[in-house]
Amino acid sequence: MPEDRKKKPRDFIRSIIDQDLKTNKYGGRVHTRFPPEPNGYLHIGHAKSICLNFGIAEEYGGLCNLRFDDTNPTKEDIEYVESIKEDVRWLGYDWGDRLYYASDYFEKLYNYAIDLIKMGKAYVCDLSPEEIKEYRGTLTEPGKESPYRTRSVEENLDLFQRMRGGEFPEGSRTLRAKIDMASPNLNMRDPVIYRIMHKEHHRTGKKWCIYPMYDFTHCLSDSIEGITHSLCTLEFEDHRPLYDWFLDQLGVYHPQQIEFARLNLSHTVMSKRLLGQLVEEGYVRGWDDPRMPTIAGLRRRGYTPEAIRDFCDRIGVAKRDSMVDIALLEHCVRDDLNKHAQRVMGVLHPLKVVIENYPEGQVEELDAINNPEDPSMGARKVPFSRTLYIERDDFMEDPPKKFYRLGPGREVRLRYAYFVKCVEVIKDPKSGQIIELRCTYDPATKGGNAPDGRKVKATLHWVSAPHALTVEVRLYEHLFLKPNPTDVEEGKSFKDYINPNSLQVLNSCHVEPSLKGAKPGERFQFERIGYFAVDPVDSRPGAPVFNRIVTLRDTWAKIKNKVSRS
Ligand code: ATP
Ligand code: MG
Repeated sequence: MPEDRKKKPRDFIRSIIDQDLKTNKYGGRVHTRFPPEPNGYLHIGHAKSICLNFGIAEEYGGLCNLRFDDTNPTKEDIEYVESIKEDVRWLGYDWGDRLYYASDYFEKLYNYAIDLIKMGKAYVCDLSPEEIKEYRGTLTEPGKESPYRTRSVEENLDLFQRMRGGEFPEGSRTLRAKIDMASPNLNMRDPVIYRIMHKEHHRTGKKWCIYPMYDFTHCLSDSIEGITHSLCTLEFEDHRPLYDWFLDQLGVYHPQQIEFARLNLSHTVMSKRLLGQLVEEGYVRGWDDPRMPTIAGLRRRGYTPEAIRDFCDRIGVAKRDSMVDIALLEHCVRDDLNKHAQRVMGVLHPLKVVIENYPEGQVEELDAINNPEDPSMGARKVPFSRTLYIERDDFMEDPPKKFYRLGPGREVRLRYAYFVKCVEVIKDPKSGQIIELRCTYDPATKGGNAPDGRKVKATLHWVSAPHALTVEVRLYEHLFLKPNPTDVEEGKSFKDYINPNSLQVLNSCHVEPSLKGAKPGERFQFERIGYFAVDPVDSRPGAPVFNRIVTLRDTWAKIKNKVSRS
């Protein structure tokens, strides 16, 4: 087991499991499941649930199932099933031979429904969906009993079988649990457990035209699979009495449902429905757009599974909903990449520099360190020549006091190379824009130190112009301007808060030639700029396209310091 997955701090869920092991509640077993509905791609919130369910199984030497909760044929699709499997695997988890579908249990569930009818605990109801809503009452008023509630067992059995047989139109009848229309918990007011839908299902085809509801399906699927701890998000807390009711009435094996707070992340949205809208309406380029909080988007952006698991560890699990700052997620990937990503030099906004006293046609191969955090990653050669590019921002013609980088008459260090001094600024005569700097270098400063001990205040990155590879770089910012875009002002939509600068494409960036062989998915630190990954979709051999994963600025560390200081 990787280092980060050994014993975790005791949160309230792990404490419950510890206790259950002590009392031998489930015969020493720990068996969890991750139950996505295949109606969209997984997001970072699901990663929290995956890390929790699979993580707990690993820690306790137990098992975790992957189960598709596929009870709604209208919204589900095989594309989503495949993407979910890929994402769980990529996060580093394995369901072994325990891949299940709720639809595999349709026959069993049908028989359980028959059992309920025979016990007088379920009835066929002819109220329309609108009437059911009306009869349901409110939080302050009890519901009204359906006039069909008193049907005989025989009639219910007959009608339910005919519902299955396809005799009735969609929406004309439902099967409902007979519980308590006066219950203070609305979920207990005779909830619908089967509905008629004349729709093909992506796995069962035309076999069924009645489909079980989530609450009925979920507890029984957990029971059938022998799950011990059924971990779900807080919104299901009010459904727990129903979860327990079905299992108790049917007298079957009874797992324990435990709720935890869902992950909310700032500057993004976390619902498949909203994310789906961004995809369908073209606000992003797909579910795997690197700005999306989906696992596929984060992967394409260059996030590592280690960073995401670390993030899930750090946020932990609690009983209260809260909003996590996206800066923490960025901090986690920075932390991981700092240890493992190779350093390279790349210039995003190039400014040409000619070293006047450097011989025409001469090229030197200078030694550059691949990762100062990890000497085992070794070194590489970078070519130096008379014509270079530096970052436009690293030069100012009339620098203010605190600007220590290059200016007229100033000397700076070029990383791994020499001290250079700016001797002339060349401008476009028409526009007045600076198009070139003329510099001189000091041959005695090779490697970046002056034998006479003189100091410079800045070290700049650079690339040799004739050797550089010209590439496309995509810079990303938060997808939303507002920390909580679902907190919508009157008359607006969450889409009104999309950041218009969330994607910026730079077409003529210059990077060192070693990047010509960079492979899809490979990650680098561009010195002084940030972490970048080779886009797996749009890159071509010899022509990588780079996605910026994160800048080097760690806003989380700043937030943390502020908090601990105040
Ligand atoms: P969404 O609201 O994004 O559509 P969902 O809850 O409908 O999500 P499911 O496919 O039903 O999505 O979720 C699978 C599992 O992931 C469930 O156990 C659910 O509780 C959990 N999950 C979903 N969103 C989050 C989240 N933001 N944080 C933690 N767990 C989550
Ligand atoms: Mg759901």
